[in-house]
Amino acid sequence: MSDKTDFSPGNSYPLIVNIVRSVGEPWVANRERLIGWMKLSIITLSVAAVAGTVGVTILRLTSVAENSQLASQQTHSQEVNPEGGEETAAPTAQPTQELQQPAPVELTSSSVPAQLEGKIVYQAKLSDKEKVIALTFDDGPWPKQTLNVLELLKKNNIKATFFMVGAALQEYPQLAQKVVADGHEIGNHTWHHWYRHLTEATAAREIEDTTALIYKTTGVRTSIFRPPGGFLHNGVADYAKKHNYIVTMWSDEASEFRRGVSVPTLVNDVLKNAFSGAIVLLHDGGGDHSKTILALPQIIDGLKQRGYRFVTVSQILEMQDKDQKLAMEEKPPLSKVNIKKSPKGKGNYK
Ligand SMILES: [Zn+2]
Repeated sequence: MSDKTDFSPGNSYPLIVNIVRSVGEPWVANRERLIGWMKLSIITLSVAAVAGTVGVTILRLTSVAENSQLASQQTHSQEVNPEGGEETAAPTAQPTQELQQPAPVELTSSSVPAQLEGKIVYQAKLSDKEKVIALTFDDGPWPKQTLNVLELLKKNNIKATFFMVGAALQEYPQLAQKVVADGHEIGNHTWHHWYRHLTEATAAREIEDTTALIYKTTGVRTSIFRPPGGFLHNGVADYAKKHNYIVTMWSDEASEFRRGVSVPTLVNDVLKNAFSGAIVLLHDGGGDHSKTILALPQIIDGLKQRGYRFVTVSQILEMQDKDQKLAMEEKPPLSKVNIKKSPKGKGNYK
């Protein structure tokens, strides 16, 4: 749940502050200056009035758009918060730029078991035949850090999964193309990485715009989705489930966001919670993750020493599917089965 990404712009109102300050000064001492400020105040008020009118117009237009279920073709630059608060802006407010033709990529298997569509997955339940684990990297693509991760994965011949933020993908399309060219999987992590409650129309845009850009940029149609911060009750995961995405959570994470956390702690966090079928949450984007990059070689070495093989999210879910089918085939006829109540506890998905 410590999946923090700050895409918020700063706030500053220097003009208003200056006006307030000027009134506080001994104004009789400088009459011309006072008149000047009064003129400036009138201009400011006029500009504010015009901006207000534009704001109301945008609100009305958005209302119409939500009613008509318009989702995927709008830019995000005029987002209106249904709760009336101020929206955060994407790192880039530019409309989708014309991208170069997607690099010719051999599509990695993004096919996921149909019965998991619309479900929430935390891990894969696997037989004990083989130890496998899925590393996932969130909030990229991100300059330098995504390349650092790719380099380490390549060196160790590991395939992983990257849950990308649409706004970051728009800014760094070549990084996403490299992720796919290297054989990794891409998942959807919304456009803006918002935590707040979203209307269905806004959730649709957050998810579908990102899916569309992933396809346009890399040629990959992804069906795996991870909600920002792991929030399952703010509307975004509901939309994803309703539209047959596999909502991919995690079972293993490092305390990447703890202040002053050490590299050995990050390594230990992941290793102590590792098990066959685990999905590991790490970050390559959304801020400084240099400690994760430093910890990654030791995480990989530690898992290798414990006998793990590394697969993508789709692959680990396919393995679960095969194991379950195999288990079904091996089961004796129903009449001879001693039916036991399954133990309570964390299911592998719900
Ligand atoms: Zn995230």
